[in-house]
Amino acid sequence: MFRRRADREFRDAQRVCQAMQEMVATWQAPDFPSPAAESAPTAQDSATPGDVPDFLPPDLRVPSRHEVEGLMMRWQQPLVIDGAVRACPQCGSYRDWIIFSMRDDTVWLRCRTGHNTLERRLDPAWYNRNSGPVDHFHPTLDDGLRHLGH
Ligand SMILES: [Zn+2]
Repeated sequence: MFRRRADREFRDAQRVCQAMQEMVATWQAPDFPSPAAESAPTAQDSATPGDVPDFLPPDLRVPSRHEVEGLMMRWQQPLVIDGAVRACPQCGSYRDWIIFSMRDDTVWLRCRTGHNTLERRLDPAWYNRNSGPVDHFHPTLDDGLRHLGH
């Protein structure tokens, strides 16, 4: 019984490693129009100088939650799920998590040491209730981790 559980946890860990690697590979900037296309002069530019359809430059727009591979936030206090403090199955640490809400509706926990654990009892609804508004976009997972202090 225990052995089977350990196997499953190992497979979960393997999957998340794979997911993380894929996330780095595919986590890219949303499909903004290229600067070249935007700056190409058109007849309309000179005809209607006051008419600016996209007034925000691309780097000031924040992508929506559906345009990214996942969302992440730092969770420094102990994480209590179903009345119990969640500890990392690999190293036992129980505070200072990064919590990921992925586009496939899974929620993952990453401890300070970098162990990733699927947390089936949490879902995107929980994440949304407990996270602030999306305020930063990170082109890579590492960039996001650095930004969050991990
Ligand atoms: Zn750990």
